[in-house]
Amino acid sequence: MNEISPINSEMTALQRRDNSHYLHPFTDYSELHAEGATIQDRAEGIYIWDADGRRIIDGLAGLGCVNLGYGRQELADVAARQMKRLSYSQSFFKTSNEPAIALAAKLVQLAPRGLNHVFFANSGSEAVETALKLVHRYWKLAGKPEKNVVIAREQAYHGSTIATTSLSGNPVFYESGGGMPIAGIERIKAPYWYMNGADQSPEAFGLTAAGWLEEKILHVGPERVAAFFAEPFQGAGGAIVPPATYWPEIQNICRKYDVLLVVDEVVSGFGRTGKWFGCETFGIESPDLVTIAKGITSSYFPMSATMVSDRIASMLIEKGGEFYHGFTNSGHPVGAAVALENIRIMELESVVENAADVGHYFGELIASLADHPIVGNVRSCGLFAGIQLVADKETRRLFDESLRVGDRCSAEALQRGLALRAIGDTMALMPPLIITRPQVDEVFKITLEALDATARAFT
Ligand code: PLP
Repeated sequence: MNEISPINSEMTALQRRDNSHYLHPFTDYSELHAEGATIQDRAEGIYIWDADGRRIIDGLAGLGCVNLGYGRQELADVAARQMKRLSYSQSFFKTSNEPAIALAAKLVQLAPRGLNHVFFANSGSEAVETALKLVHRYWKLAGKPEKNVVIAREQAYHGSTIATTSLSGNPVFYESGGGMPIAGIERIKAPYWYMNGADQSPEAFGLTAAGWLEEKILHVGPERVAAFFAEPFQGAGGAIVPPATYWPEIQNICRKYDVLLVVDEVVSGFGRTGKWFGCETFGIESPDLVTIAKGITSSYFPMSATMVSDRIASMLIEKGGEFYHGFTNSGHPVGAAVALENIRIMELESVVENAADVGHYFGELIASLADHPIVGNVRSCGLFAGIQLVADKETRRLFDESLRVGDRCSAEALQRGLALRAIGDTMALMPPLIITRPQVDEVFKITLEALDATARAFT
């Protein structure tokens, strides 16, 4: 098998320093120490330059977060202004600040109907964990503490704390111990048509997959089920886009059994699907809680939020009693100011409309990859795509995991100047939402070359 040459042998001094002290997230440390990191130096628009001056197209918008692209002067200016005026403000003890108040109001205006309240945090994980605590608190205050089981899905990704790892649906992540998954979480299969139900039409399968939720609720007992947690499309767990019939039926089932619906929009929120929220794209009309992060500031500042419906907020307000939960930097004024400016620019420059328009073009190009000899299935939604590699198209046989075909494909792409991501053998793309059609052509060309090179290496 061909060896990929080191991407940049001249970066070894920095790579060595990196290895000396820096423990990276989601990293195999022995591999990192053998290979060295790709060290990013500067970025503008959809492009990143590494420490050696090599230009890379960021086909991942960082981690699905730099929706507005890199290097926006306005965001830097707003952050600097806010840091000079009020660099920090705690929000625990009946204290507030103007940017956070304004941001909460703006988010309510943008979000799906009925989500009129906002709890701020710093990361997606914290937003989801907040949602989990709110679910439990709600049912306690409602006088139904026995409703304490939540249902999540296989191949979900909801974060990296112990509770959100437990909600996530990848058993490998539980291996580090710590009592994961925590108690009170039940799991159903993902609406993954290609692997879980391709003997049916996608439409019929969407209803079948939603039916798995009903079966689970009935199995556990509706009087014990507190909530269903799910991403509109599944990102980090496998790039799975559900059939159109799935979500409306899920919503009906949640209503029927009085199960709260928690929609994790950490990746899908802020334009990724071609609408402000994945809820709009997938027909989710009245979620009880929605988590957002990443695109809220285009990751110019760490910020996240849990959007809360009137039903839950009124219970918290009317019954009162302290909600023992929060973070030092909840409602950070600099983050809030940056988020407001990020949203202002997105509206002014019609960034969501661009995601829909260019996303349509991107989706058509990506769909054409279905004919490639090692591509079994392609799925996309707005400016998000998953390209699933298979050893045998006819039988849908996957490559042997030990071959790490996806990793090879992403290395081939990076060598050609495109960052994409291997989720197992599914190649994920989610470029910044400001991407243009000619730039999409560039992304497509390199993706195709990387697939061809991978096919040559493994067939
Ligand atoms: N939820 C979803 C859907 C995500 O994709 C992620 C991260 O990718 C998270 C939650 C966790 O966000 P964070 O990494 O900011 O904690």
